[in-house]
Amino acid sequence: MAHEDRAHVGAKRTYEYLRQHVFMPRLWKKVKAYTATCEKCRKAKPDYDQPLDLIVPTRPPPTQLSTQCIDFITSLPECPEGTTPS
Ligand SMILES: [Zn+2]
Repeated sequence: MAHEDRAHVGAKRTYEYLRQHVFMPRLWKKVKAYTATCEKCRKAKPDYDQPLDLIVPTRPPPTQLSTQCIDFITSLPECPEGTTPS
């Protein structure tokens, strides 16, 4: 189908392409429904419908040349008390 042939472009661009080449009643609804169920797009493309989390500012470093670490991975299990991650 045109969606896969055109490298999984979104519903709007797939519709624009198909509209120039075929006539089909309710084409926009069909294209929108088809692209919403595309497995590759659902896995690879971000979901912009979900609200993003707020940005949390980091604290300034206590001294010059001190090291700061930022965890980009969240929801990891806690280490047992008194142990340090290796
Ligand atoms: Zn797709």
